[in-house]
Amino acid sequence: MAKLGNGNNLIFRVAVSVPVYRLFDYLAPDNCGHDNIKAGTRLEIPFGKGKKIAFLVEIASHSEIDIVKLKRVTRILDEKSLLRAKDLRLLHWASGYYHHPLGEVISAAFPVALRQGKPAVVQTEKYYSLTQWGQATDSNQFNRARKQKSLLEKFQQDQLPLSETGLSDWNKNWRPAVRLLMDKQLIQIAQPDSRVKFAESLVREDVLQLNTQQQSAVDAIKEGLGLFGVFLLEGITGSGKTEVYLQVIRSVLERGQQVLILLPEITLTPQLEERFRQRFAVSQCLSHSKLTDRERQTAWLKMQQGECSILLGTRSALFTPLRNPGLIILDEEHDVSFKQQEGFRFSARDVAVVRGKILNIPVLLGSATPSLESLHNVDKKHYRLLHLPERAGNAIEPVLQLLDIRNKQMQEGLSEQLIEEIKITLAKNEQVLLFLNRRGFAPTLICHGCGWAARCLRCDANLVIHYVDRMLRCHHCAREQRLINQCPACKTGELTPLGLGTERVEKVLNELFADKSIIRLDRDSTQRKGSLEGYLKQINEGKVDIILGTQMLSKGHHFPNVTLVSILDVDSGLFSIDFRAAEKLAQMIVQVSGRAGRADKPGKVIMQTRKPEHPLLTTLLNQDYSSFAKAALAERKEAGLPPFSYQALLRAQAVDAQMPLAFLQAIVELVRPYNNKAHIQVLGPVAAPMARRAGLYRFQLLFQSTKRRELHKLFDEALPEIEKLKYAKKVRWSLDVDPVDLY
Ligand code: ADP
Ligand code: ZN
Ligand code: ZN
Repeated sequence: MAKLGNGNNLIFRVAVSVPVYRLFDYLAPDNCGHDNIKAGTRLEIPFGKGKKIAFLVEIASHSEIDIVKLKRVTRILDEKSLLRAKDLRLLHWASGYYHHPLGEVISAAFPVALRQGKPAVVQTEKYYSLTQWGQATDSNQFNRARKQKSLLEKFQQDQLPLSETGLSDWNKNWRPAVRLLMDKQLIQIAQPDSRVKFAESLVREDVLQLNTQQQSAVDAIKEGLGLFGVFLLEGITGSGKTEVYLQVIRSVLERGQQVLILLPEITLTPQLEERFRQRFAVSQCLSHSKLTDRERQTAWLKMQQGECSILLGTRSALFTPLRNPGLIILDEEHDVSFKQQEGFRFSARDVAVVRGKILNIPVLLGSATPSLESLHNVDKKHYRLLHLPERAGNAIEPVLQLLDIRNKQMQEGLSEQLIEEIKITLAKNEQVLLFLNRRGFAPTLICHGCGWAARCLRCDANLVIHYVDRMLRCHHCAREQRLINQCPACKTGELTPLGLGTERVEKVLNELFADKSIIRLDRDSTQRKGSLEGYLKQINEGKVDIILGTQMLSKGHHFPNVTLVSILDVDSGLFSIDFRAAEKLAQMIVQVSGRAGRADKPGKVIMQTRKPEHPLLTTLLNQDYSSFAKAALAERKEAGLPPFSYQALLRAQAVDAQMPLAFLQAIVELVRPYNNKAHIQVLGPVAAPMARRAGLYRFQLLFQSTKRRELHKLFDEALPEIEKLKYAKKVRWSLDVDPVDLY
């Protein structure tokens, strides 16, 4: 044991963002008054041959390591820890629960720039506001200068100072118009305190009169403010969930507290953002992957400092520190994008619930199609269900229909009857939405002569045909090549595309409805920044007749003029080996249906199927999602599957096919003694359902138990040993606790 010297020999135990489970001991930096240094403080340390950013975990008086071997912390980066004790408690919990190295978990809580050690300062933005002259000026004077006109109108409507970021949201190229209006003395640089004054008025517009169910949901949550509790708000699309959020948020703001709202990436549309901005005159922040690092850091710090009241963000915003937390909302809680699938594999939904518990605030989960996990938690009385059974206002629910396409004439996935329905809808000047969850032209290119198929050389997968840019692409790795015209095997056979993708349907739609405007929404067509927003705008302005797209369409967007929705190929979801496939399919069907017929126009949803008697489909058709969920939960219970048991998946991959298998076999041997009395099934090792991906051979080992604690105990004990196994450093491996997909 090292002897204690003076204060400078105190030990800083730190976490570093490296994939090892241990912490590291360092000597306290020279000349530091460490009385006030708290856990969570960022430090700069010598590490290996270079430097790294570390996070202080604790200050200790002695180290297991000989003191002369310890290096010294070079620099303390924060005067005051940016994380509070409760934030750290959550991160410690998450590191323990997900069995993920603490350094990587803490690091994930920070925005990129702070992780890299950049100073924690809010990059102050300029704000602009109207002058008195600007207030009084009629914008019609600017009929010839459209941009200045619309900017002036924006200022006049909003009656709020606008930040540089806000202006960029309005128009990327805002500076010339601002400069011109400033030259005319219509707008000015706002004084900082004018912002505060405006922020005093919380709500801008009159709120809607809630219906009975909405009102009782709002009342229940309001009563729960200031206490931990989880509410599951279940309501079909259009039932007024967002309105419930807005009214509850208002109460939280009135208490002087902050709200964290998490959404799946795609739902975070300008439409929703706009709805929030119209409703609340308080400062609001955004955090998602399309923003710059700087913008995300600003949002993070503003929430941390309490300068901002509302944060709308995606999964990664979950850990944002809150100065004055009041409520966490997770919308579309069933969405798989809340599960991080790489690195630190956490479920934002589950961690949000734990966060609510630690902070002693309510957590509100909302969905039209709640996950079976959450419904099970309602059954166990862990969550409280609030139900909005009908559409708000006068909107009518869409009618679901099955269309039996067995032995029917099809044109690239469209049956004659569906084509007829599309014609009828278009004739009424209403919009059609077609859903096919496969991008590209066709999933396979096959030789009619010899049966050769275009395969990815690095994955167990076919290359997908993309006709638009004449490429063959692997959807599992980055591999692509030019589309070929000749079969490389027999040189003579005719190459034919097999199967259906969105490009292929788009082509036939363009032929069938040549005079109509058709747009395709998938990952390929919306790659350019802002293109999705552009398309959504066109759709809402009624400039589009047929919308064709992938799962992107099933989330969040509202298309009020769509009255016909068709799911072109429901069957592909009916035959999956994944035990969650039925749940995902049911959610997808209900979510896609939710896009149809709002306001005064009733909608129709047609599902093309060759399995019209399939129980999943008939249950959704004749009953509803809740009935489906009940039946599905009963099946899971029968089979002992989650949520009636707990799983963890150990994955291993390597260029060499033998090593991952040998590694997992060694683990099976290693856990055998720990696992003696614990009721844990160890299944495998087996090859992953996609046995090779991006050149790596993949194997997996599934652990399952009805006792969560036993499962965790096993990993607590076994992981330090697993780390020491011969192959542990030669293969890439990871542990996925509560995996949502077993691939
Ligand atoms: P969801 O989030 O469940 O899809 P929204 O809150 O977006 O539902 O509500 C759907 C539509 O109904 C919106 O246009 C909203 O303004 C409107 N709406 C919500 N609640 C009411 C209400 N109580 N009375 C009238 N219209 C409402
Ligand atoms: Zn051939
Ligand atoms: Zn590939």
